[in-house]
Amino acid sequence: MSTAWTKEKIEHYKKYAVSGSVGLSILLFLMKAFALLATGSLAILSSLVDSLSDIVASVVSFVAVKFSLKGASCSHRYGYFKAEHLSALVQAAFIAGSGFFVMYSGIDRFFHPILIKQTGIGIVVMALSLVLTLLLISFQKYVARHTHSMAVKADSAHYVVDVLTNISIILSLFVVKIFGVQWFDTLTAVMTALYLLIWAWKIAHEAVDALLDKELGDEVRKNVLNMLKQTEGIMGAHDLRTRDLGGIYYFEVHIEMDGNLSLLRAHQITESAEEKIKQAYPHAQVLIHQDPYGVKEERLDDLLKNCEV
Ligand SMILES: [Zn+2]
Repeated sequence: MSTAWTKEKIEHYKKYAVSGSVGLSILLFLMKAFALLATGSLAILSSLVDSLSDIVASVVSFVAVKFSLKGASCSHRYGYFKAEHLSALVQAAFIAGSGFFVMYSGIDRFFHPILIKQTGIGIVVMALSLVLTLLLISFQKYVARHTHSMAVKADSAHYVVDVLTNISIILSLFVVKIFGVQWFDTLTAVMTALYLLIWAWKIAHEAVDALLDKELGDEVRKNVLNMLKQTEGIMGAHDLRTRDLGGIYYFEVHIEMDGNLSLLRAHQITESAEEKIKQAYPHAQVLIHQDPYGVKEERLDDLLKNCEV
């Protein structure tokens, strides 16, 4: 993991990433509308329709990020972080939708080849939109890496879709024109489509996992348990549960201590354990339950004997 950003920096950059996305999608729509009026090209019309769906998708991410940053309320005391995962599901649906559309139009083009006429303005607009989109994608990748924001990640994936389809259109334009290989157009479309569908599946899978509170992975679990067991005064740790609230880790665990300790001492030991975890996982939320060592109780760990950690 790279150096941790402060909470404020995370919030600001998440907002920049999704605002930039809304701004760019509107700008691209206007540019393509202008190009359509100037050229009357059918390829630009379909790209314009795609930009319209980009606007909808980026507004969804924008709203999700704004919502997720709201903080806790009386009715939602864990906060609204999971709004990001919901928006990622919507994005996955959009990406899958474009996947099917690209596949359909690729196969359709094989049976009904169209004469592609590209005028200067059309090419300039498509190239410019490609460059702008690539700039946004690299910024979003940077933000997603540091914030672990699911909404930004999914929004960025959506723009990668645009770049891929645009590149495959340009590529097949050349190949079909120069080598006269008509089926190449269909081949790139089908390959792009398959790639998009795999991507949609991955994003949806990750979002559903987070919504269902999937554990953070054995490495994190091992690390937290080790930190607890190495804390002075802690004789054991069990029933650790972890989850991702949307870039923010949440830990819940029982620790075992000498039953004869004063409440004050037990509290101090717990605090120092919490501090350790929060240092390793900045912005994490930690809830620790204290058990007297050797107490009889029903344990989750006993139910889940087959788990590695
Ligand atoms: Zn316990």
